[in-house]
Amino acid sequence: MPENQRHGHFIAGETVQPSSGEYFDSLNPATGEVLYQAARGNAEDVARAVHAARRAFEDTRWRGLSQTRRGRLLRALGDVIAEHADELAHIETYDNGKLLREMRGQMAALPEYLYYYAGLADKIQGDVIPASDRRLLNYTLREPLGVVGAITPWNSPLTLTTSKLAPALCAGNTIVIKPSEYTSASVLRLAELAIEAGLPPGVVNVVTGFGAEAGQALVDHPDLTKISFTGSTQTGARIASAAASRFIGSTLELGGKSPNIVFADADLHNASMGVVAGIFAAAGQTCIAGSRVFVQKGVYDELLERVTARARSIRIGDPLADATELGPLAFAAQRDKVAGYVDLGREEGATVLVGGRATDAGLGGYFYEPTVLTDVTNDMRVVREEIFGPVAAVMPFDDEDDVVRLANDTDFGLAAGVWTSNLARAHRMAARLDAGTVWVNTYRAMSPMSPRQGFKNSGAGVEHGTETIRDYTRLKSVWINTDEDPMADPFVMRS
Ligand code: NAD
Repeated sequence: MPENQRHGHFIAGETVQPSSGEYFDSLNPATGEVLYQAARGNAEDVARAVHAARRAFEDTRWRGLSQTRRGRLLRALGDVIAEHADELAHIETYDNGKLLREMRGQMAALPEYLYYYAGLADKIQGDVIPASDRRLLNYTLREPLGVVGAITPWNSPLTLTTSKLAPALCAGNTIVIKPSEYTSASVLRLAELAIEAGLPPGVVNVVTGFGAEAGQALVDHPDLTKISFTGSTQTGARIASAAASRFIGSTLELGGKSPNIVFADADLHNASMGVVAGIFAAAGQTCIAGSRVFVQKGVYDELLERVTARARSIRIGDPLADATELGPLAFAAQRDKVAGYVDLGREEGATVLVGGRATDAGLGGYFYEPTVLTDVTNDMRVVREEIFGPVAAVMPFDDEDDVVRLANDTDFGLAAGVWTSNLARAHRMAARLDAGTVWVNTYRAMSPMSPRQGFKNSGAGVEHGTETIRDYTRLKSVWINTDEDPMADPFVMRS
């Protein structure tokens, strides 16, 4: 990774320097060292990017292509990403500190998003609608919206960006992306690769910078026709109201506080590994983290023993090393936030059974030990609020009714895990849990084919699958008269 490199924005197929001439540092969270500088975008840069996207949309460079051709170009982008998967994985690990093998896995899966929506590109169509009056032909056109704004977080930059880019482009829109200020590099590289794959300039644009500056300017730009956001619930609420006030749609993937539920009839080895995967993978920096662990009384002690033993043995260190199991948190303030929550938990009366300390792992970075909290209750802030770090709150429960009540007693509704060997119970729990995704005897499974929706404060709208295309298109109803004397009585409505 070249050090001290300067990145501009990527607009209309070219690297563009920021209008202010200002840049900001992006740090390697494993070492605290400066990795590169990114352009500090402002309203002027955003206007330039939206203008480029608007032109690419209006001069039919993209929406004017046949749907088959658009699909072929998305497929080509998938192929180019596949060729550069290792490079992209390294960029993301340097930037956000996630394990290289985790990012390699994500990058290997990334082309599938493009292939899936490439296959869908020529299946977007309207319908013929039956009219009561047989002399009228009524049909619908499913049209692209225009310029989509995508605002994304730092925890899985390319996966979360591609979840928006692939369906948006598939439907014929162009896009302006504002990546997280902590992870600009991989998204900029993706935009370059889009050109390499043959996508016309202006179809994919990236403006880097801070949320309150570049992000806000993008949301407020009058030419934006849709906003797709992944990030915190707090920012999502602001974006949703800004979009609503201009009557444009918003798709929101927000925070979580997901329950991971272990029944006494579960395979306890698998369940304990599922609990570990749910909260310690990616150092807990996933929206779907299983941060509330409910264990049925009877196996509570044994399950806790298994989880704490594994938590104590987790190898913390360099995210590039194959043997490492837990890398750093993405930046210093995130580490401090996690530490603050664990301190708060102590004050609230929780017991820190394992972990509970920040460390630099001998590398100078922002690490935090895998942490297990017990003696917690559902009303404590450490149980109610998203920590976004490797901190599990473990609680016992009596029976199914009890755990459904506890699990659903949250402002969030993103995901849930259930560990049981009882098939009927698995289906009952899947139906009763108030969460957009339910995993049974697994955790963190995901695919571009499977719709994702956050319930309650975890989001609005659907990502992935065919359903999301509705959010990136608009429907026009066309009426054609086939009657020779259509306006025989101009005062009566026809249907
Ligand atoms: P964040 O809300 O702080 O930032 C997300 C993005 O929004 C960044 O690009 C940021 O610059 C931008 N932003 C911030 N303020 C803005 C404003 N006023 N106007 C426009 N843009 C603004 O979130 P984060 O800390 O980067 O990401 C972590 C959060 O993302 C967690 O809450 C996590 O649960 C959530 N997340 C959700 C999903 C999901 O699919 N539901 C996936 C990953 C992460």
